[in-house]
Amino acid sequence: MSASLKGKSVIVTGGSKGIGKGIARVFASHGAKVLIVGRDLKAAEATAKEFVAAGGTASGFSADVTKYESMQAMAKEAANRYGGIDVLCANAGMFPQVKMEELTPETWDEVVDTNLKGTFLSVKACIPYLKNSRQGRIVITSSITGPVTGYPGWTHYGATKAGQLGFMHSACVELAKYNITVNAVMPGNVITEALKDLGQSYVDGMTAEIPLKRLGTVDEIGHAAAFFASAEAGFITGQQLVVDGGQIVPESLEALRSA
Ligand code: NAP
Repeated sequence: MSASLKGKSVIVTGGSKGIGKGIARVFASHGAKVLIVGRDLKAAEATAKEFVAAGGTASGFSADVTKYESMQAMAKEAANRYGGIDVLCANAGMFPQVKMEELTPETWDEVVDTNLKGTFLSVKACIPYLKNSRQGRIVITSSITGPVTGYPGWTHYGATKAGQLGFMHSACVELAKYNITVNAVMPGNVITEALKDLGQSYVDGMTAEIPLKRLGTVDEIGHAAAFFASAEAGFITGQQLVVDGGQIVPESLEALRSA
């Protein structure tokens, strides 16, 4: 798998921190050339610098997934820097936890624009380059929250994460004629700074509910994304892979506790 990623041009939106950073690190460690994208240029460049220091090829770029012109500039720059685009990891996202009675229409729009419309805009901007690659790969970061599970405070977020899968199903059929595959990773609870911000009691509670009794690491999500992008996964499209330590499997809390 690692050999087929060597030299590939990869964009990771939201690659400056959290899960995106793990995805970017895994691709860089396999010899891919990685464009790390976030709105904060300094953060994206600092992350790229870490990977370059470890012997990888990476650079930062500032772009906003909610703006089409910004996504077009990102795609153009990736192609200029790295000779095309082979892989897009549409990962940038946000998840402010607000229960519906307090949730404002403005916050709803912000989350939908970033997570769902941002996925569409990043994919659309990269299509011309992924076509030229002749083996283009799109890997979307969805979630278990929305498509499979529910959690108070995340109606807006869950709707976008389920929406990404709906987008993927039609996109993979449309883009198959260009030999572009579209797949999604569905992380469970993964240790990131953003997740830690939800508080220690949330982290402890989640750990107890996961059969493997730990949260995931960002690199573990990166390995799943790298698999979908590899030559070995060339016949897989329109699929989703849950990476959650078994969190969604027990049929009840009793099933988990009696193990
Ligand atoms: P995070 O640590 O908050 O990182 C978010 C990244 O997205 C940052 O690099 C941020 O950079 C970028 N970003 C946010 N809005 C952007 C925009 N409008 N344009 C461009 N970049 C933007 O979040 P995370 O936890 O790693 O989450 C990443 C993805 O994983 C999301 O799609 C999320 O839904 C999914 N996920 C996370 C978990 C988890 O346990 N953490 C679980 C399931 C799914 P800037 O702020 O500089 O723009």
